[in-house]
Amino acid sequence: MLRSVILAASRSSQVERLVATAPYTRDVVRRFVAGAATDDALRATRGLVDDGLAVTLDHLGEDTVTPEQATATRDEYLKLLKMLAGAGLTPAAEVSVKLSALGQMFDEQLAYDNARAICAAADAAGTTVTLDMEDHTTTDSTLEVLSRLRKDFPSTGAVLQAYLRRTESDCRELSSAGSRVRLCKGAYKEPESVAYQSAREVDKSYVRCMNILMSGDGYPMLATHDPRMIAIGEDRARWFDRGPERFEFQMLYGIRPEEQARLAGEGYTVRTYVPYGDEWYGYLMRRLAERPANLVFFGRALISKK
Ligand SMILES: Cc1cc2nc3c(=O)[nH]c(=O)nc-3n(C[C@H](O)[C@H](O)[C@H](O)COP(=O)(O)OP(=O)(O)OC[C@H]3O[C@@H](n4cnc5c(N)ncnc54)[C@H](O)[C@@H]3O)c2cc1C
Repeated sequence: MLRSVILAASRSSQVERLVATAPYTRDVVRRFVAGAATDDALRATRGLVDDGLAVTLDHLGEDTVTPEQATATRDEYLKLLKMLAGAGLTPAAEVSVKLSALGQMFDEQLAYDNARAICAAADAAGTTVTLDMEDHTTTDSTLEVLSRLRKDFPSTGAVLQAYLRRTESDCRELSSAGSRVRLCKGAYKEPESVAYQSAREVDKSYVRCMNILMSGDGYPMLATHDPRMIAIGEDRARWFDRGPERFEFQMLYGIRPEEQARLAGEGYTVRTYVPYGDEWYGYLMRRLAERPANLVFFGRALISKK
């Protein structure tokens, strides 16, 4: 219920204005977002890489409505990739891209062209791209763009969301050799017709999907902070004899950093998803929807008179 309300608020421009102008929002944002500028993203990446973590960088922004905005997003990624390579941070750092930020909502071909340019720049920089997955109305389009991109850039990563009923079958389709697949629970508000609604059903689906990916021929990327899912992931890695070069854990910047360090210390590959940029609102609201404790933290910052 609370999750639905917060996810509905993530689409409201009135609530966005209220949150953006609250006095201590910046303190909350700073916990989950590396900063506004490309240099901030680089600084955060350097720190994480020095700590033995891999990174995927996300330039915040979604639901782009003009070709100019889409081109500006593409250009930011091109600049970022050049800077990462120049700083010697590739291949440890890759990038995560939302097709909606590249024009998917109004022109799928434009989104493909922009994503292709980013994949080419990533390839030249010695790293790769993962296509984030958004709400279920975009799943077919995103998987279609992915399969076109993979013809020239086979290491382009996919994201599958365990809360969708279709995902077990998508996991089977995408568990072939060389296929990089991030498995997450899913962060959007979805109807019952397409998505499991209870946490228990989503967790069971996550485990079924993990079994398919970990027993398959691809490269699974287990994106979760859930201690149970992580423990099952560790178990499946032993069971299917997958070393740190054959799968990875992924977590978000600012969430469970001690667990990220623990797993890296045990020899696993751990990648931190680092968002940066001005357009943090939708991202922050999805993080709040996931965890009521974050909401308390956020509420305190909003009303704080410090
Ligand atoms: C790297 C990465 C990339 C992602 N990409 C996408 C994407 O492309 N599309 C998409 O829809 N979603 C994406 N997500 C978000 C994902 O779908 C979930 O919404 C999010 O990860 C929360 O699910 P969870 O598996 O962590 O478990 P949850 O069910 O949210 O949490 C389970 C348990 O994890 C622990 N936990 C969770 N958060 C915290 C915290 N802040 N502090 C301490 N413990 C905590 C708690 O024990 C909690 O009970 C991504 C997530 C990650 C990590």
